Amino acid sequence: MTDARQDDGRDGDTSPPRLAVNGVTKEFRASGNGRLRALEDVTLTVRAGEFVSIIGPSGCGKSTLLNVIAGLEEPTAGQVALDGDPGAARLGHVAYMHQRDLLLPWRTVLDNARLGLELQGIPSNESRDAARALMGRFGLEGFEDAYPWRLSGGMRQRVALLRATLPERGVLLLDEPFGALDALTRGDLQQWLADALDREDRAVLQVTHDVEEALLLSDRVYVMTPLPGRIHDEVRVDLPRPRGGETVTGRDFVALKARLMSALSGGTGREAV
Ligand code: ADP
Ligand code: MG
Repeated sequence: MTDARQDDGRDGDTSPPRLAVNGVTKEFRASGNGRLRALEDVTLTVRAGEFVSIIGPSGCGKSTLLNVIAGLEEPTAGQVALDGDPGAARLGHVAYMHQRDLLLPWRTVLDNARLGLELQGIPSNESRDAARALMGRFGLEGFEDAYPWRLSGGMRQRVALLRATLPERGVLLLDEPFGALDALTRGDLQQWLADALDREDRAVLQVTHDVEEALLLSDRVYVMTPLPGRIHDEVRVDLPRPRGGETVTGRDFVALKARLMSALSGGTGREAV
């Protein structure tokens, strides 16, 4: 045990973060000669075992940021480092659940779930076994051979999540994973995701526009400004887990929620600098 671990294990960790976004700016060509600046000087980190959320208004560049991290887009300026390496290949090496579930309608649940493994070149029988082994944990047992149209919205989200998490990747990006669900299914699935990920040491970065969702799941929350997206505030969420139904009425939760709502609407929730 070293002195560096005195405050707590995670803060004392001196290894590079799993994911580090350093000064990332992203511009798109707009109509005529114009340029649209979607992200401006975004810097953030996610450590192994950490669940971090980004909240921000619609259109502020959240999906663009995940696309850059995943290697689908290159930043105009700045860099993304995996395990401290800014040169690391990202495309295909970062797990990514997109904003829409994008299940293939002509493939069964099992065949949708194993798609990521298949793209990695893993033989069919191996990828089938790997996906089948996780059906129970993802609440999909008995639906292996069903087609997506037969599934509820919550089940479709779980298939998409299983597909994103099945390849072993140190970083998992989730873009509004509960966006399309009604409040009831949402609560169930959030609890379920928290439990499922609790057993892993992945670095998880979730995008959401829902403050309560961010607080229920996260160790830290970054708040983004409207376009161009910049990091406006960072909040550590030291609430005990599991964070069940009673959490949302607790004093600390209510205070954090007020701070995040204020930051979202342009204030800092603390003294302006
Ligand atoms: P969010 O996910 O926060 O709702 P997005 O990242 O989807 O926001 O979009 C941020 C801004 O960037 C929007 O104005 C959007 O129209 C623009 N944008 C996103 N992708 C592209 C692209 N490939 N080309 C041009 N503009 C884009
Ligand atoms: Mg988006």
